[in-house]
Amino acid sequence: MTREKELILVVDDSPTNLAILNVVLREIYQVISANNGADALSLAAAEEPDLIILDIMMPGMDGYEICDRLKANPFTRDIPVMFVTSMDQERQEAKGLALGAVDYIAKPVSPPIVLARVRNQLELKRQRDILRRLSAIDGLTGIANRRAFEEDFDREWRRAIRVKSSLAVFLTDIDHFKLYNDAYGHGAGDDCLRLLGQALSKAMLRPADLLARYGGEEFVGLLPDTEAAGAAIVGERLLGATRALALPHAHSPIAATVTISVGIAVCRPSVQIDRANLFKLAGDALYAAKKGGRNQLRVFEMPESVSAI
Ligand code: GH3
Ligand code: MG
Ligand code: MG
Repeated sequence: MTREKELILVVDDSPTNLAILNVVLREIYQVISANNGADALSLAAAEEPDLIILDIMMPGMDGYEICDRLKANPFTRDIPVMFVTSMDQERQEAKGLALGAVDYIAKPVSPPIVLARVRNQLELKRQRDILRRLSAIDGLTGIANRRAFEEDFDREWRRAIRVKSSLAVFLTDIDHFKLYNDAYGHGAGDDCLRLLGQALSKAMLRPADLLARYGGEEFVGLLPDTEAAGAAIVGERLLGATRALALPHAHSPIAATVTISVGIAVCRPSVQIDRANLFKLAGDALYAAKKGGRNQLRVFEMPESVSAI
């Protein structure tokens, strides 16, 4: 998440300690605080801070348990956690580090040390975020890769369950692409994939839509909050954008230019459904579009009875 100032969540049951850390950090960072575990977990998930500073000794849920829960939640797993240890005890530190904490601060806190350690951890997080962004991009086409899709699919699936909305997934596959490669060469095939990736991503208009290269000559897309009718409109736009590219494909039995087939699957996600089933349904729809003559789309809806179980 990009913000003007990095956001730090400080968790401590003592108002005095919260105030001290607040004063030290707020000159440079944006600071939010919680004085118990439950608030800490919900703030962390809602605000996605860049760093969490956790007191270990707290009544109720202690710092270790909070850290453990943060690491178990995919939304908060990657947020670095620093512990504040009241005694400079090796055992405490070792346990915290084993739970996935990145560093610790000894009480009583020394402002310059706190600032230096926080700065180091935020710098490391910045670098990790850059690497993660780079590793989410497909090298050939410059659009998202399969890994990015899997992450987004997981996130959007769970969001759709929470907000009870519809989710559409589509798969596209170039028609007779083997013949294209055979006729024009693999380099031209790669150029075709690059151009197609750009054209398809322009055909998706909502900011939450995602297009990724799934592998080979297949692209995959996610359309959050989209019902079957809306997804079909996007599918038509994908077909149209491909035809509009007008890349000659003299050996295609179905058209003079490169075309794609599109399979779309739509459902209302629920905890009872495995999201892999929605993806598989998109594969079935793609197969049906191919069978039906290519250069066309199919939309399959997961029956409400299945969605609603
Ligand atoms: P269909 O209409 O049934 O999809 O026919 P097709 O020839 O496209 O069949 P299929 O999808 O099985 O073939 C995939 C072909 O796509 C195989 C390979 O020649 C080509 N291909 C896959 N990945 C790449 C790639 O990264 N670059 C290039 N140039 N070609 C690729
Ligand atoms: Mg294929
Ligand atoms: Mg193909």
